[in-house]
Amino acid sequence: MEKRLIIAIDGYSSCGKSTFARSIAKELNYIFIDSGAMYRAVTLYCMRKNFIGKGGLNTGGVLWEIKDINIGFIYNPDINEYETFLNSENVETEIRSIEVSAHVSRISQIPEVRARMVELQRQIGVNKGIVMDGRDIGTVVFPDADIKIFMTASVDIRAKRRHDEMTGRGIVIDFEEIKRNIIARDIADENRDISPLRRADDAIILDNSRKTVEEQMSWIRQIIEKKINGS
Ligand code: C5P
Repeated sequence: MEKRLIIAIDGYSSCGKSTFARSIAKELNYIFIDSGAMYRAVTLYCMRKNFIGKGGLNTGGVLWEIKDINIGFIYNPDINEYETFLNSENVETEIRSIEVSAHVSRISQIPEVRARMVELQRQIGVNKGIVMDGRDIGTVVFPDADIKIFMTASVDIRAKRRHDEMTGRGIVIDFEEIKRNIIARDIADENRDISPLRRADDAIILDNSRKTVEEQMSWIRQIIEKKINGS
């Protein structure tokens, strides 16, 4: 049987990690997990309970309810994609809002939230054959991953991509607001105490500022081929 890999894709916000990871998973017939969606779903739960918002952060409330937060991914055949579910509710669109983006870095800094997410992520990856994207996949979740990629792109390009994506979904949003949010999340993700965003020593850097998805795919195909066939 062909060797099944764990592929870890980390990097900055809005670098196209999920698009890339999803394409790789489709080609290999692997599971794709967007770990950011899991942190976003926890954040949405906390917003609805008023654990985070204008009144600041109520960490006690988050810790009290963390065990009640269930996150899963369910395949939607109509769009040929997996969608994020929070306690049986499809939250795929809601977790992408700018409000969730504005709060997620604070929720993802809570050690108990991270511990729970990492546990879930490892369970999903137990049989290998998985592509997971996030911030700490190659460093913490799967330190022994077969392939580790660290993605980066210029802030303006990332903001433009996110803006195009949101506009495409019919959301009216200011470009500068998106850019500010991306910069703030970079800083928060790189400087948090627990599992900060950093490149694993053995991760390959991919700057995709000027690369199409197809160019990225032909690049990664060669790396995968070598790993599977050892040539
Ligand atoms: O990938 P995405 O931008 O959707 O992630 C949203 C947020 O979730 C990040 O800004 C980060 O705070 C958090 N995150 C994380 N660890 C991961 C994935 C995402 O802390 N593995």
